[in-house]
Amino acid sequence: MSEQTVIKRMAEICQLLNHYDHQYYVLDEPSVPDVEYDRLMQELIALETAHPELKTLDSPSQKVGGAALKSFSQVTHQLPMLSLDNVFSADEWQAFAKRLLDRLNRGGVKSTLDFAICAEPKLDGLAVSLRYENGVFVQAATRGDGTVGENITENVRTIKSIPLRLQGTSFPDILEVRGEVFMPKASFDALNKQAIKKGEKGFANPRNAAAGSLRQLDSKITAKRNLGFYAYGIGFVGALANIANNGDNVEESKSIDESWLANSHYQRLCQIKALGLPMCPEVKLLDNATQVEAFYQDILQQRASLSYEIDGTVFKVDDIALQQQLGFVARAPRWATAYKFPAQEELTTLESVDFQVGRTGAITPVARLKPIFVGGVTVSNATLHNQDEIDRLSIQINDTVIIRRAGDVIPQIVSVVLERRPENAQVIAFPTVCPVCQSAVLKAEGEAVLRCTGGLYCQAQRKEAIKHFASRKALDVDGLGDKLVEQLVDEGLIKTPADLFKLTELDVSTMARMGQKSATNLIKGLEVARKTTLAKFVYALGIREVGETTAANLAQYFLNFSAIKSASEAQLQQVPDVGVIVAKNIINFFAQDHNVEVVEELENMMSWPDIEAKNDDELPLKDQTFVLTGTLSKMDRNEAKAALQALGAKVSGSVSAKTHYLVAGEKSGSKLVKATALGVSVLTEDEMIALLNK
Ligand code: NAD
Repeated sequence: MSEQTVIKRMAEICQLLNHYDHQYYVLDEPSVPDVEYDRLMQELIALETAHPELKTLDSPSQKVGGAALKSFSQVTHQLPMLSLDNVFSADEWQAFAKRLLDRLNRGGVKSTLDFAICAEPKLDGLAVSLRYENGVFVQAATRGDGTVGENITENVRTIKSIPLRLQGTSFPDILEVRGEVFMPKASFDALNKQAIKKGEKGFANPRNAAAGSLRQLDSKITAKRNLGFYAYGIGFVGALANIANNGDNVEESKSIDESWLANSHYQRLCQIKALGLPMCPEVKLLDNATQVEAFYQDILQQRASLSYEIDGTVFKVDDIALQQQLGFVARAPRWATAYKFPAQEELTTLESVDFQVGRTGAITPVARLKPIFVGGVTVSNATLHNQDEIDRLSIQINDTVIIRRAGDVIPQIVSVVLERRPENAQVIAFPTVCPVCQSAVLKAEGEAVLRCTGGLYCQAQRKEAIKHFASRKALDVDGLGDKLVEQLVDEGLIKTPADLFKLTELDVSTMARMGQKSATNLIKGLEVARKTTLAKFVYALGIREVGETTAANLAQYFLNFSAIKSASEAQLQQVPDVGVIVAKNIINFFAQDHNVEVVEELENMMSWPDIEAKNDDELPLKDQTFVLTGTLSKMDRNEAKAALQALGAKVSGSVSAKTHYLVAGEKSGSKLVKATALGVSVLTEDEMIALLNK
């Protein structure tokens, strides 16, 4: 690379890193995953190492974090709050260890660190410094740019695990505790769910959620966010009198209370734990560096099951005297390094979107991605769920997207890097017909999911449709369980429920794992099932939201199948239990030629008696609305409902002024209260049975 090219590339990287720093530290809203940031930083460091003369003092590689927000008052740290160096592999860790040994002049003799190392999870939150004076919490500050941070005292006061007064009596006058504020995974999930429900964007990850929650101008908001804290070090320690007399005469102050401090980093953590500050339970003191890799692997294994997010491990030289000998570089101590985990988030491109039809007809957009290695596997697909999710992400084909794969959780698209939207980006268009069977697709009111309406015919829904058709409450085909349905479909013997009645004993007996006896039984079972009732047949068709009761109501109201098939939406809505949505589902079902074909075949092969219209005197409960609540002991809820409906009653799910009777079983709750308040007649189970028998 010519020097000109190097200069240009360095300027480019610096500009990008400064931009990303602003998004991350100031806005708490990163647009690229950490791995992209880290790659650029590594590239910059490599260029700076090769061309030290081109390194500038304000290079992002020399800086800690971002400037403190002006909306908070500022706190100047008495001891700077630094960042950490990073290693990303066992080789890089070895190189780090070698540098330590060389610096300690042990490199010639030893090849491994033979002193204690404090091993800690690398918590993914944000660094804060807590100041206690005479054991009382007086101030909290963010790291900011390492020298000046934001005063977030009132917000930190709301974090329940941070003591406002230290335990015991043995502590320095002034004690600064350094640690990480984080948002537990469960709180993060709940917060984001809530945000999405409200149509808001939500936070990209728990780190940004913690930072955003802590840097709120209103501490009441912070209080609601359920933040956690683990201490991982000690900052300034001193005596109050000296501060008062000598301003910030750190040197003199330090000498007074340094005797309190243990000379091991791990022991110091135990000291602050004894004062009541939370310490991460996974922290461990290792005898020497041979145990580093095992600790890293162990924490990596535990990562998914920990209640808080981490992005690696941190290894620190434990002996404070050695730490002092090693010292610091511009932005980080030399005696510690983060050993980061492989990235769980990566960048890739959305190449296209396919639409898959699920077994219940739900049509799901699936993102086809440029294959990318993330979270230990190569990912090339991710679900986009539905139109709402596509709108929320504002995603288009050819966009650069952040893909996340954490633990065993299926990969998900977290966000779109809008800054990188190319000119050839294309809006994602949903299909207007089912991509599998070309039936119409429909989005029910209040539902986010688009569905295929060719339930009886659609290849994608075949198995479910046939299983439902043969199930106990539908045609109850003896000898035909779910497994056998799958086998029949897989072996190509049936495609629709109508094909069941075309099966021969020979077809079935020659199937794998099928004996002659089972084959005979199945054919007999199918013969029996051909004769059914209108209600069962309607239910067996598997029309969306037409359950047993609705099917029975439809049968009772229309009396024969032709009338149901040709009913208008308005007529359908006359039927008890049938509202706009169910009526639409029925209309749509019969509007699909493919469904009608199968239904006609079934009508020819099956039979059921028409229902005779009942006279009003056979329907003594006509126009009476009942609601059932609580536990019935002599009959189950469905039986009671069917018995009431057989006498003409309407059975509704909720109590209103139009309810005539509430049948209250054991443990009746709010419905009973409401019915009593509305003056609705309340019947016991026995009273209802008496009424039925009258
Ligand atoms: P860092 O994450 O590299 O490491 C230092 C920090 O780790 C400390 O300040 C502390 O807050 C934290 N930490 C967690 N556990 C610790 C422990 N046990 N002991 C000591 N410290 C512990 O922090 P940084 O300097 O704030 O940020 C640099 C990193 O942030 C980058 O490597 C990058 O991954 C990410 N970043 C991402 C973007 C982006 O746009 N995605 C932008 C800026 C920074």
